[in-house]
Amino acid sequence: MSAGESTLHAPVSEPGASPAGGFGTNEAGGRSRTVGREAQGERFDVLIVGGGPAGSTCARASSAAGLSVAVLDKAVFPRDKVCAGWVTPAVMETLGIDLDEYVRPGPDGAVRTLQPITAFRTGLIGETPVDTGYAEVVSYAIRRCEFDHFLLERSGARLLLGEPLRELRREAGEWVVNGRLRARLLVGAGGHFCPVARHLGAAVGSGEPAVAAQEIEYRMDPHEAAQCAVREDRPELYFCPDLKGYGWVVRKGDWLNVGLGRDDRQRLSSHVATFCEWLRREHRVPAGLPARLHGHAYLLYPQAPRRLAAEGVLLIGDAAGLAYPQSGEGIRPAVESGVLAASALAAALAQADPAAREAALATYPAAMAARFGRRSGHPPPVAATPGATAEAPAGWRERLRARLARGLLARGWFARHVVIDRWFLHRQQAALPAAVPRGRPQ
Ligand SMILES: Cc1cc2nc3c(=O)[nH]c(=O)nc-3n(C[C@H](O)[C@H](O)[C@H](O)COP(=O)(O)OP(=O)(O)OC[C@H]3O[C@@H](n4cnc5c(N)ncnc54)[C@H](O)[C@@H]3O)c2cc1C
Repeated sequence: MSAGESTLHAPVSEPGASPAGGFGTNEAGGRSRTVGREAQGERFDVLIVGGGPAGSTCARASSAAGLSVAVLDKAVFPRDKVCAGWVTPAVMETLGIDLDEYVRPGPDGAVRTLQPITAFRTGLIGETPVDTGYAEVVSYAIRRCEFDHFLLERSGARLLLGEPLRELRREAGEWVVNGRLRARLLVGAGGHFCPVARHLGAAVGSGEPAVAAQEIEYRMDPHEAAQCAVREDRPELYFCPDLKGYGWVVRKGDWLNVGLGRDDRQRLSSHVATFCEWLRREHRVPAGLPARLHGHAYLLYPQAPRRLAAEGVLLIGDAAGLAYPQSGEGIRPAVESGVLAASALAAALAQADPAAREAALATYPAAMAARFGRRSGHPPPVAATPGATAEAPAGWRERLRARLARGLLARGWFARHVVIDRWFLHRQQAALPAAVPRGRPQ
């Protein structure tokens, strides 16, 4: 991306942007280069678009480094996010979350859900599962509406909520957002459909190798809760027979979260329906499990074709496509990318010279590669659909791999040491140190 002194980029299209707000329009209703409210505008060192775990973590670490930070989010918090909602202790450590504070009742007496997980049940849909227990807490189930709100509220940033990014341009070496917000540096943290990622050329929503998933989280009534065989401390994960995805059931007290994600997007609803039907037949979930689930998508880190940085801007979290390839979990990469980005932002803003500033920003992609590995930006070469006739040589390899994997999934040591420890808990990688020490006042 090149620098410029005037409006260089077309306004960003925002799916779902409110017609009332308009698309790059000023109050007079015309498509604008400059909205006539500059006098009421605000200026920040860093403007972060998106207040999910990536954005709020980056905001908190940047604020703690002494930068003036704003978070712009189209939603008003608390807001829901399609997600199973499990996070590892490493995430809590990097976030510096005091668990006692997290579950302390609020002024209205409400208590956030924090379900400790000490076991997993894993297997293939339709086959006998394997149970794996731990002597310690290896994960937590949280509710994203609560978790994300908690993180955003303590971020120390100026919160501009309920306002989508409608227009983005670069002027005199600064970013101008919605015609009135100016920032020296910009962070795209708007999730999979992030408008900043789109601005940087991402083919958001088309032509990217995205994982598609559906999920429902609902509160069971006492009768349903009694019917539900899933243990609160033991989420259940079931792989699709073709191994192209998996479904889950996570119980958080009376809340039940059920979903399924696949890396081929075809017939997702039918896979979800088959999975839910099987869960009902096996009496794992109440008969009244809602039939309509919510859909979302994300990119897996190794093949995500999105850039992490361009002039004056960084992408973090799902906006950058960072989910772990085997499990699709993205909260830890979102949080860690927020921390790593904040340190590059602080280093960049300490530089007066524009070239030195860009060099400091470029340390972020380097830090990400050091942490998560280099990525190809290409989908895996082997056609993954079983039975795909055009890929006959790969077909038998795929079938053999699937057969081997089925055998392995049924083995206790594989379930523990590979599936759970490596793929889902990432125990091989220590937590990224907290950017802001626990208990530090803002
Ligand atoms: C079904 C499903 C289950 C999952 N389960 C897990 C799990 O159990 N554990 C795990 O670790 N990961 C899980 N993930 C992945 C995880 O949800 C994401 O990786 C994570 O939410 C990424 O955080 P983020 O901050 O990058 O983006 P998000 O959490 O998506 O936040 C983006 C924010 O940007 C805002 N925004 C979007 N567009 C605009 C705009 N135009 N203007 C202003 N604001 C905007 C949104 O309102 C939102 O608040 C799951 C994903 C799916 C789809």
